[in-house]
This record gives sequence, C-alpha cells and structure tokens, in this order.
Amino acid sequence: AKSDGRGTYRIFDPQMDAVIQTRRSLERDMRTSLAQGGFELYYQPLVNLQTKRVTAFEALMRWNHRDRGAVPPSEFIPVAEDMGLIVQLGEWALRQACAEAVEWPDDIRISVNLSPLQFSKGNLVSTVVSALASSGLPASRLELEITESVLLEKSERNITVLNRLRELGVRISMDDFGTGYSSIGYLRSFPFDKIKIDKSFVRDLLVDEGSLAIVRAIAGLGVSFGITTTAEGVETEEQVRCLNLEGCIEVQGYFYSKPIVASQVAGVLAKLNEQ
Ligand code: C2E
Ligand code: CA
Ligand code: CA
Ligand code: CA
Repeated sequence: AKSDGRGTYRIFDPQMDAVIQTRRSLERDMRTSLAQGGFELYYQPLVNLQTKRVTAFEALMRWNHRDRGAVPPSEFIPVAEDMGLIVQLGEWALRQACAEAVEWPDDIRISVNLSPLQFSKGNLVSTVVSALASSGLPASRLELEITESVLLEKSERNITVLNRLRELGVRISMDDFGTGYSSIGYLRSFPFDKIKIDKSFVRDLLVDEGSLAIVRAIAGLGVSFGITTTAEGVETEEQVRCLNLEGCIEVQGYFYSKPIVASQVAGVLAKLNEQ
C-alpha cells in the first residue's frame, strides 16, 4: 500500500479495496444470519464472593459463520454498529436472553449488553417492555450493561431512558469501568446498580501496583455509593483472593466458567453453587 505521506491511504489502494469488499460480504452475511438463526448467545456466570453463589449470567453474542466458523463479537459488533444492524441484533439478543433465562431458578438474573446505538435508534424502553412481557421474565431479573459512551452523547435523553428502565425494575450496570474518560462523574448523573471493573485491571492486579490501586479505589467507590462492584476477567485463585480482600462484591471470569451455551447452564449452576 502507498502512503500519501500523512499517514492515510489513497482511495484506489488495492488493499483498501479488499478491505471494503470483505466488509461488504460481512454485512451481507450478517443480515442473512440474523434472519436464519446464525447468531447464538453464550452465558457466563457472575459469582458473589460472600455467599459463593451465582447471582446472574451475562449473555455474550456469538456468530456462527458458515465459512469462517465462530466469529468473535470484537469483529462483528463494530460492523453491526456501523451498518445500523446492531439495533435489530441487540433486540434479538434481549428477547432470546429473556426467553432462556425465564427457565432458570428464580434467584438467577440475566445480564444483557446494550450498544449506545440502541439508545439513539429504535425505542429501547418499549423493546424491553415487550421482551419481558413475551418471555414472562420479571423485570427484577434483568440487568442491562451500558458503557459510558451512552452518557457521553445525548446524555439527557439517554438518562431519561435509563430512568424509565429503572422504574420498570430493571437493573443498570456500568460496564468496562475505569477505561473511559471521566467514569466517576457518571456515577453522579445516574444511580447505577452495578459497576463492572474492566478486565484489564484484573489481569494486571498482581503484577502492577497501579492496577491494584485502581481496583481498590473502584471497590471503595462501590461501598461509598452503595453500588455492587463486579470484577470481570478473573482467571486465577490468587486474583479472587486479592479482589475479595479489596472489597469486591462479585467476580466473573474463566476461573469460574467460560461462556457456555444455554443447555449447560443448569450443570454449571449446580457445580458452582455446591462448592
Ligand atoms: P464485555 O461486555 O466486556 O464482555 C466480557 C468479555 O470478556 C467477553 O468477551 C468474555 O468472553 C470475556 N471474558 C470472560 N471471562 C474472561 C477471562 O477470564 N479472561 C479473559 N481474557 N476474557 C474473559 P466476548 O464474549 O468476546 O465479548 C467481547 C465484547 O463484545 C463484550 O465485552 C461486549 O462489549 C461485546 N458484546 C458481546 N455480546 C454483546 C451483545 O449481545 N450486545 C452488545 N452490544 N455487545 C456485545
Ligand atoms: Ca459486558
Ligand atoms: Ca466489560
Ligand atoms: Ca468490553
């Protein structure tokens, strides 16, 4: 590829053309897949450190592509957001997650990720009301995970939406906490139920004092604000011990379970809850 010397590439660049072609076929395949059941939800448990019991499962999307196999969300969610398909895809995930979770024990919640675009396009509140009604899942068993970008733009409008969701009885979690610009300020603009400590801090917890200090500070914030703190990406027993010591309430990660398919939920619940 030829650079024009300013770090950007020319439009007629053949490599660039290939990227555009790949993307077009990705978009086409995604639409077809959504219509034909090519997307699937995996579920990963969240464990309370005090009670040692599973409180919820987070729904994580997977795309089973006919040629590419399982395409990870890091590859298709940004494309789905660009093409606007994330609104339909997100609605599918919400309905699917509620429908599957209603079969689980009453004390287990389901947590669903929301894209900021689901706030700006489509009617999120009526989608949630409809997903709850048609599945029969009580609102108190649904958690919605948002990132701070929801509060970055159109914040007043989005805070109104969040408040209406909360009035329904749905819980709202702030995902990827600590990775953005001014996360702490957002805790004042909306009464979050849960803060999810980003897995990058958990990964470096035992090797980097800065990460430890951040985890400690976030756990402290949780206590001050009366918000549950959940550490994600927990892979080792040492991390669990440290997070417990720092006052984290919940943990989630490969140490407990990888994301699993719905048919494995009962087995994983039995295994984790008996320990
Ligand atoms: P996220 O919401 O931060 O989800 C946590 C990610 O960490 C998941 O990646 C999960 O599989 C991974 N993970 C869990 N435990 C561990 C661990 O112990 N170690 C490590 N290294 N990773 C762990 P995944 O499933 O690839 O999803 C990536 C991202 O895609 C998610 O990040 C979320 O932002 C997005 N995503 C997934 N499903 C949906 C969805 O239904 N809707 C929307 N809007 N976004 C979604
Ligand atoms: Ca999440
Ligand atoms: Ca996260
Ligand atoms: Ca993330």
